Amino acid sequence: MSKPLDQSRMDKIVSLAKRRGFIFPSSEIYGGLNGFWDYGPLGVTLKRNLKDAWWHDMVAGHDELAAPAGAPAPYEMAGLDCTIIMHPQVWKCSGHFDLSNDWMIDCRESKRRYRYDHLTGRWAAHRDKRTFVTTDASGDDVPAELAARAQKFFGLRAKQVDEIAWEGEPTPLPAAVAAGVTLADSLGPDASAPGSLTAPREFNLMFETRIGAVAGGDDDRAFLRPETAQGIFVNFKNVLDTSRVRVPFGICQIGKSFRNEITPRNFTFRSREFEQMEIEFFCRPADSAAWYRYWRDRRWRWYLDLGLTASRLRLREHDRDELSHYSCGTADIEYAFPFLAAGEFGELEGIAHRGDFDLRSHMEGKLVRRDGDLVVETGADGKPRHRGSGKDLSYFDDVSRERYVPHVIEPSAGADRAVLAFLCDAYHEDEVPDEDGKPRSRTVMKLHPRLAPVKAAILPLVKKDGMPELAGELYRSLKRQMTCQYDEKGSVGRRYARQDEAGTPWCLTVDGQSLADRTLTLRDRDSLVQERVPLDEVPGLLRDRLT
Ligand code: ATP
Repeated sequence: MSKPLDQSRMDKIVSLAKRRGFIFPSSEIYGGLNGFWDYGPLGVTLKRNLKDAWWHDMVAGHDELAAPAGAPAPYEMAGLDCTIIMHPQVWKCSGHFDLSNDWMIDCRESKRRYRYDHLTGRWAAHRDKRTFVTTDASGDDVPAELAARAQKFFGLRAKQVDEIAWEGEPTPLPAAVAAGVTLADSLGPDASAPGSLTAPREFNLMFETRIGAVAGGDDDRAFLRPETAQGIFVNFKNVLDTSRVRVPFGICQIGKSFRNEITPRNFTFRSREFEQMEIEFFCRPADSAAWYRYWRDRRWRWYLDLGLTASRLRLREHDRDELSHYSCGTADIEYAFPFLAAGEFGELEGIAHRGDFDLRSHMEGKLVRRDGDLVVETGADGKPRHRGSGKDLSYFDDVSRERYVPHVIEPSAGADRAVLAFLCDAYHEDEVPDEDGKPRSRTVMKLHPRLAPVKAAILPLVKKDGMPELAGELYRSLKRQMTCQYDEKGSVGRRYARQDEAGTPWCLTVDGQSLADRTLTLRDRDSLVQERVPLDEVPGLLRDRLT
């Protein structure tokens, strides 16, 4: 594995997340459950603010009368909330049932589990010993990792590495096995002797469950959704028939998804239960390339507007050979998480041009590409492998007077990954003067005010002389408009430090002067500037700064 960019920074973020009640391991008192996380009092509000910002910016606050900057035309947006368990046929037609199977391989010696297709190997020999050395490293790291593994296995010193005789090129393990390499000859990535790798096993990424009190035959089988998108496709006609939307329009959904990830890792980045924020945008086929570009750029700007550091964000267009078989274009918005190696980025959101693949799949049955065309996949008997709904999901465009199956642009974001990116980005360590003017190091979460769980803290300088009463008055009037906290415990410096770690953008301190003239100090978390402002103007002032 490549070295992380800044593991110590990541460790501090994970520790702060736990200590301050952003994120806890699920069922922690029983030792936690790998790939599952709970959001604590600050975390739940941060995540809710993030989802609210998405919902507001994409759906509720969308102006459907005018084309936003960069959009080919005005458009409409509608919301939806679907069930997690859906008809099993949905997953058969969408391709998830057949496709979401990954192969995994276990090492009996190291007890580690690997994705079969992530292992690479090469024959190495020294004197009378010969083995197929494997590694789970990727890209440019592979040759050096293989050399290090072989050196260890043959018990060589660094200067003897050249004595190793290599055969063939580094090859993905599945291809090597197909060409005759046996697992008995293979040295696992973390094993000391060959033969510890188990045969690859299929691992279904969808969590399976049974419907009904008595689990019986195959008819009761159901799945927890691995994405929210399919609920939107199967409701396309319902939304069209019951609201006044016309193409072009989008349907948005936020909800839980479940994937039985083989190796959950990197804090919440790869979880088994997570939340998605998905848009399916339906448009005329001829206009779809322009809409794809619009959504790619619009979603990219959304992260920047909420304050993610531009130099840590990357918009990556997929190469043609990376595209799914139905896609005419896909871009990922990626973030340089501190747990990744320098130069590596992790996906926050994918924006995919999906053509008419999804609606047609749910009409006709599971599709595959043959000779460049999407056709219904058939079994040995010539019948559709997975039968569609047979419902007509085409659209009659009364402006162009044509009937077509709309094309789809899908911006698909993960709420948990976004929260993690905003937490990582917000984490700062700097120095501030304490009450005596001496420099004191502080940890501060520079969250965008829209995302910050607590917008303002109200702090009476001392617990007497009428200050708590005046501060309490402000707290009650401000609380009606935004999340705020009242804190009278400890020195003001300690209270500032607590709020800095929680990411609170503003602290309002009521002091002796406040009692005389109803003014207070407003401290800005990032600039540390303290202004004197009239207490009665605070709600209006903060409201303006929040938008
Ligand atoms: P990856 O390649 O990282 O597994 P993906 O390409 O499978 O991701 P999509 O199917 O496009 O992801 O899902 C859309 C979004 O959902 C992702 O960009 C990510 O933000 C989120 N997501 C997907 N899988 C997970 C997961 N296991 N844990 C947390 N978020 C996830």
